[in-house]
Parts: sequence; structure tokens; C-alpha cells
Amino acid sequence: QMSSSTELIAKEKRYNANNYAPLPVVISRGQGAYMWDVDGKKYIDFLAAFATLNLGHAHPKVLNVLIEQAKVLSHTSRAVHNDVLPQFAEYVTKYFNYDRVLAMNTGVEGAETSLKIARRWGYRKKNIPENQAVVVFVEKNFWGRTLSAISTSNNPVAHDHYGPYMPGFQIIPYNDVDSLEAALKNPNVCAFMVEPIQGEAGVIVPNDGYLKEVRRLCTKYNVLWIADEIQTGLGRTGSLLAVDYENVKPDILIIGKGLGGGFIPISGVLSSDEIMSVLTPGSHGSTFGGNPLAAKLAIATLEVIKEEGVVENSRVLGEKFRKELRNQLAEDVIPIVRGKGLMNAITVNPRYGSALDLCLIMMDLGLITKPCDDSTVRLTPPLIMTETDINKGIEITVKAVDRL
Ligand code: PLP
Repeated sequence: QMSSSTELIAKEKRYNANNYAPLPVVISRGQGAYMWDVDGKKYIDFLAAFATLNLGHAHPKVLNVLIEQAKVLSHTSRAVHNDVLPQFAEYVTKYFNYDRVLAMNTGVEGAETSLKIARRWGYRKKNIPENQAVVVFVEKNFWGRTLSAISTSNNPVAHDHYGPYMPGFQIIPYNDVDSLEAALKNPNVCAFMVEPIQGEAGVIVPNDGYLKEVRRLCTKYNVLWIADEIQTGLGRTGSLLAVDYENVKPDILIIGKGLGGGFIPISGVLSSDEIMSVLTPGSHGSTFGGNPLAAKLAIATLEVIKEEGVVENSRVLGEKFRKELRNQLAEDVIPIVRGKGLMNAITVNPRYGSALDLCLIMMDLGLITKPCDDSTVRLTPPLIMTETDINKGIEITVKAVDRL
């Protein structure tokens, strides 16, 4: 007799596209920082759906807003006005101090939207010759899976055999101010897009001052700085935005992931009147973008972030987490503990095993997370965790490393 989890996994493998390699566990319930599998085993969630469930599973306030709004109005399209989108636009722009916002659905759509805006701005405001605009990216960037996104990818698994690739993209090293300046000297560059801390690359924190230099050089060469805060934003790094650590303001800010409270996809592109004005009716859009259900959840989520001290919690627990892990984990086995706030990663010395080996042991001990690559394990729990929860995460991580 097969257990239901074995059956479900076999069914998914048989009927679903196999474009992921999930951990061999079938989750059927989540609450706060915890999840349960179909056999009732409890796990602490240190993945949070790739840093999306910042408020944990089923946050009660946001859940209630979801239910109430769904009863009244969930979707109109922007063929008509709805009575939530204006509230959302005002709330979000004031919250992040921008003139305008454009709601999309997923992160990659928000990023694509930013690039379209930047190219138009390049032609119409910077007078770049038609079809000559260049956008600069960094190595190991991750901003999604569309053809444009994978055109900038260094990862052969994500990239290969999907060509021809999007032209007009240039890739330079991350955290390298000289390379950036050399690239921005090209007058055809309209934008530089970068994650303030690289997420999927393995939680790579740049040198202090890098973002200040990015701001300075983009201003100097009249290039739009697009900050991809889809993963780093909304308190993940212990600051509302990761760029706040250096007191700099990107020309275009992209947020996503947890913006819908973990219930529904919504991303946002924020910018100035001048830059956003390149979009005119018909020049961009999305059937679901700006739907009242997602817009209402975004307001509720941003309210909870303020009301519950989520940013501060992420900063304080993150510091404790890294300090305790560094104290308790042998440097020979785990050479690196890095991150900011509750966006963290540890690296496994390959002599002891792989990142996946460690994740499987952690799962056995009741903690869920996934590798970024062969040797890096990400640790991105919900930001609403308590100190007891973080201690539990530390305890399991230490035990799991012992078993490697
Ligand atoms: N940008 C960053 C920094 C991300 O981490 C991700 C997803 O992991 C994306 C963009 C893409 O977001 P989505 O998967 O919602 O399209």
C-alpha cells in the first residue's frame, strides 16, 4: 500500500511538466511559519516559497481582507475603473515615496515592464537612435524565466536552447564599479538593472557603498537605475528596501513576491512622473494587472508590515540567526554564513556533502528549505517569525550539519 504522498508525487511526475525538482514532501497545510505534510508531519518553513511568504502562511488580517474583497469584487480588468486601484496607487506611491506605480502580476512581468519603460525613455528622452538601446545587467542576475530574462542568464540550464536571445543586453560583473562606469559611458545605454543583494545567485551581498556608486554613476551618465527589489524588498533584508541601507533612490523600483501577502501574485513598478509618462494608453498592459483583489491584498500586506514591526523583526532576528549559526557551525563544514536581515545563505564544503544533501537532512528533522546551487543553502523564513521559531531553525540547522 503506497502512502498518499508517494502516490501524489508519482502522479505529479507522470502528468505534470517536470520543470522543477521539488523536495520529496507533499505539503497540505500552512499556518504562520509552519507547514504540515499530508501525513501530518510538521515543518518549520525556512524557504517561504522562495522568500514570498514574508507574513507567513495564512496571515489572519490579510486572509480576512482576501475573503471580504473576493465576495464584493475580484476582477474587472482595466477596461473600467475599479474602486480599489486608486487607493492602492496612492497608498503604495506614498509608502515608497514615488510619483507613480504600475501594477503587474509576477516579478518577471514587473521587470519586463521596467525594461520597456527604460527603452522608451531612452528613445524619447535620451534620444538614443531607434533600436540601439542597451540595458546593462550583472553576472548571475536572476529576474525570472521569460525569453528576455533568460537572455541575460549565465546559468546554462535556464538559458541553453531557447535562442535566439534578446539583443541589446550587456552583462558586466556584479559589485564592480569600474566595469559599470566603462559600460555606462556608451551613450546608447538606457538602464542598469540590478538586485541590491543577489538572491538566486546565493545571497550575494555587495560591498558597502556599491549602491551609492551605482546611483552616482547612473546619474552622471544619464542612465536609469532599475532596482530589482522583488526578493529583497518589503523588509526581507531587515530594511523596508535594501537600497535604504545606503540611502539611495533608484529611478525605477520593482517589488513583487510577498506584495500580495502570499495569497495572490502582484508586482509593482514604481517611478517618477517623467519616466512613467512614456507609457500611454495601449502601449503596455495586462489582463489581471491592477485587479481589485490583488490591489486590496497589497494594501493590507503593506499595512501589516508597518503595524507588526515586520522590518525590525527581520533585522533583529537576522542578526541573531547569523551570529548563532557562525558560533555553532564548524567553519570547516560550513565555510560561509552570509546575508542581511532574514535573507541568508550558508555554503557547504563539498567534502562533507552537497547543499541538497543538507536540505534533505533538514527536511527529515522538520525544516524546509532548498539549495540555490550545488553548495549553497538559502535560509529565507517568514519575517513574522518569533525568537522561538528562529531558535528552532538554528537548532535544526546545527543538528543537520552534524549529520552531514
Ligand atoms: N527578481 C528577483 C530578484 C527574483 O528573486 C525573482 C524570483 O525569484 C524574480 C525577479 C522573478 O519573479 P517571478 O518568479 O514572480 O516572476
